Amino acid sequence: MSAYHIDMRELEFVLFEQFRISRVFEDCELSEYLDDPTYRSVLELARRFACEQLGPLYQSADREGCTLRPDGTVQVPSGFDALWQTYRNLGWGKMFAAEEAHQAMPLIAALPLLEMQFGANPSFMIYTGFALPLAQLIRQHDRLGVHAACAERLTDNTWGACICLTEPNAGSDVGQIRTRAVKQADGSYRLSGTKIFISAGSHEMADNILYAVLARVEGAPAGTAGLSCFLVPRKRLDAQGQWSEPNGVSCVRLEDKMGLRGCATAELLFEDAHGMLLGERENCGLQQIFSLLSQARVSTGIFGLGMASSAYLYALSYACQRVQGSDASQAFSQSARRLAIVNHADVRRMLLEMKSKVEGSRALLCQVALHHSYSHEPLASKADKAVVRRHDGMYKLLTPIVKAYISDQAWRVCELAIQVMGGHGFIRDYPLEQYARDVKILSLWEGTNYMQAADLIRDKIAMGRGSTLFKWFVEDITTFIDEHASVTALDPELRMLREALGALGESIERIGEWTRGGRLDLVFGHATRTLQFMAEVAIGWMLLDAACIAQGKLDGGDLSVDEKAFYEGKLLSAKYFVRNHLVEHPGRVAVMAAADDSLSCSGAALESAAERCVAS
Ligand SMILES: Cc1cc2nc3c(=O)[nH]c(=O)nc-3n(C[C@H](O)[C@H](O)[C@H](O)COP(=O)(O)OP(=O)(O)OC[C@H]3O[C@@H](n4cnc5c(N)ncnc54)[C@H](O)[C@@H]3O)c2cc1C
Repeated sequence: MSAYHIDMRELEFVLFEQFRISRVFEDCELSEYLDDPTYRSVLELARRFACEQLGPLYQSADREGCTLRPDGTVQVPSGFDALWQTYRNLGWGKMFAAEEAHQAMPLIAALPLLEMQFGANPSFMIYTGFALPLAQLIRQHDRLGVHAACAERLTDNTWGACICLTEPNAGSDVGQIRTRAVKQADGSYRLSGTKIFISAGSHEMADNILYAVLARVEGAPAGTAGLSCFLVPRKRLDAQGQWSEPNGVSCVRLEDKMGLRGCATAELLFEDAHGMLLGERENCGLQQIFSLLSQARVSTGIFGLGMASSAYLYALSYACQRVQGSDASQAFSQSARRLAIVNHADVRRMLLEMKSKVEGSRALLCQVALHHSYSHEPLASKADKAVVRRHDGMYKLLTPIVKAYISDQAWRVCELAIQVMGGHGFIRDYPLEQYARDVKILSLWEGTNYMQAADLIRDKIAMGRGSTLFKWFVEDITTFIDEHASVTALDPELRMLREALGALGESIERIGEWTRGGRLDLVFGHATRTLQFMAEVAIGWMLLDAACIAQGKLDGGDLSVDEKAFYEGKLLSAKYFVRNHLVEHPGRVAVMAAADDSLSCSGAALESAAERCVAS
C-alpha cells in the first residue's frame, strides 16, 4: 500500500487559479504542445506514478536499506531496479528537458510533478535527481560539444549523476577540498582523493555514473579560487569505444543513516581516476557548479514540501477517524458522545499549523518557479531586459529562503503530524516516523540552513545596506496589499501583513547599522532569524493572495458544498498563519534592538564545559 497522500484539488488551485499557469504556457509559446487539458493529464499520470509505483516502496526500502557487497558493488532495495526502468521508460527525467529549449517544461509546470515524486519516494528520486541538472551544466560549458554524448545519456537516465564536493575536512568550508587533479599530456586529468556523503554514489541501476568532482589542480591557489570541476565517469571508454573500463572510483563505505535509508550515501575513493575538465578554464569550478547548486536548493524545498504535505494529509485523515474524548463543554460527562479528534481545538491548532505552512510553501515555490520561468529561455531573450533582470533577481533572493525555511518547517510539520497521531505516530506501522527521519537531512545538505541565511544577508540583501532585491521584495508585497484594499473581509490580515513588512524593513535597517558599526558578530548571529522573518512575510503574502481569490469565489456564490468548504479552507490557512505568526514580528524587532551580545561572549563558557566533558 502507498504511504503517499496528495490532495489534487490543492495542486489545481495553486496552478490554475492562483498562478494561472496557462498564461505561462502562452508566454513561453508552448500552447501548441502544452495546454491546460494536456497538462492536467500529465498531472494525473504523475499522481498515478507517485501513488502506484513510488509510494508502495517507500517503507519497504527504508526497512531493507542498501548494502555494500564484498565485491564493492552496492545492492539497492528490492524493487528499485525495476522502478528505475519504469521511470526511464515513462520518460519522467526527459519530461523536464528538451533538445530544443523552447519545448522544455517550465519550472512552474514541473514543480507539482516533482513534489509528488519526491514526496512519494525521496530515497528513490535522489538516484535520478542530479542527472538532468548535470546534463544542463555540461551543455552550458561544453562549447565544442566534446561531452555531448555523456549529456544525452544523463538526460534519458541511461547514466546516473552525482555531485562530489564533501570531504572529511571540507563540509561547509568547501575551500578546504584536497582532492588532487594532475594534468596529463593529452589534456585530460587524473584525480585522487576521498569524497564522503555522496548521495546515490554507487549502484548498478544505471549503465554508468558520471561524477562531477570539485578538485584542485596541482599548483592552484588555496581556497575556493583554486577549485576546478571535473567530469569523472565510473566506467571509462575501453579500446573498443565502450564505456566499460573501470576508472579507479570505488565505494569504500555506505553510511548507516537516520533516514533516506533506501538511498546509497557513499564514501568514494578516487585513485588516479581519469577526469575531464568542465569547460576550458581551470580554477572556476565553484562558479560553474553554482547554477546546479542553486537548482538543488530549490529542489530541496520541493522535497520538503512533498514529504510535509503527505505527512500532513496522513495525520489529517487519521484525525478524522480516531475517536477519543468528548466536546470540551462536556468534559466531565461519562455519557457524552465521543468525538473524532479533529473536533478538538488543540488538534485543529496542529492541523492548521501544518495546513498553512504546506500551502504557503507550495505557493512560494510556485512564485520562485515563476520568476525562474520568466528569467530563463525561451522567455529571457524575448522580454524586456529590465523585466528579466527583476525576475532573475527575485529568483535569486527567494532561493535561499525556500531552501532553508521550507526544509526547517517540513521537519516541524512531520513532527506535528506525529503529535496528532499520538503514540501511533511514533510506531513504525505508520509512515510518519519515517517522514520525520527522512526530512531532517534537508536542513543540512546543499549548504546548511545557516549557510543559506548567511548567503541571504551577504549576497542578496547587501548586508542591510540598500539592497535592490529587498526593495523589489517590499514593492511586490506592497503592490499586492494596495491592489487588494477592496477585499474588506481580509482587511485586518492585510493590515497585519503591512505591519509585518514594516517590521521586517526595520530589522534589515538594523542589520545595516550593525554592518556599518563593524558588529558582524551580531549581523551573522541574527542571520537565521532574519531569513525566517523574511520567509514568514513571504508565506503570509502567498496565503493572503490565495485567500483573496477564495474570497472572490465565495462572494460570487453558487458553489457546491465541497467547493465552498475548499475556499473557506483557504481563508482559514491565511487567517491562521497571519494571526499566529506575523503578529510575532514586532517582538522580533525588539529582540534585535536589544542587540543581545551573549552570542559573542559565550565562546569560553561553552568551550570550557566541552573540555570538562572530555576530561571526565
Ligand atoms: C545524507 C547526506 C547526503 C549528502 N549528499 C551529498 C552529496 O551528494 N554531495 C556532496 O558533496 N555532499 C553531500 N552531503 C554533505 C552535505 O552537503 C554536508 O554534510 C553539509 O554541507 C554540511 O557539512 P558538514 O556535515 O561537514 O557540517 P559542518 O560544515 O561541519 O557544519 C556543522 C555545523 O556548523 C555550522 N557552521 C559551519 N561553518 C560555519 C560558519 N562559517 N559559520 C557559522 N556556522 C557554521 C553549520 O551550519 C552546521 O550547523 C550529504 C550529507 C548527508 C548527511
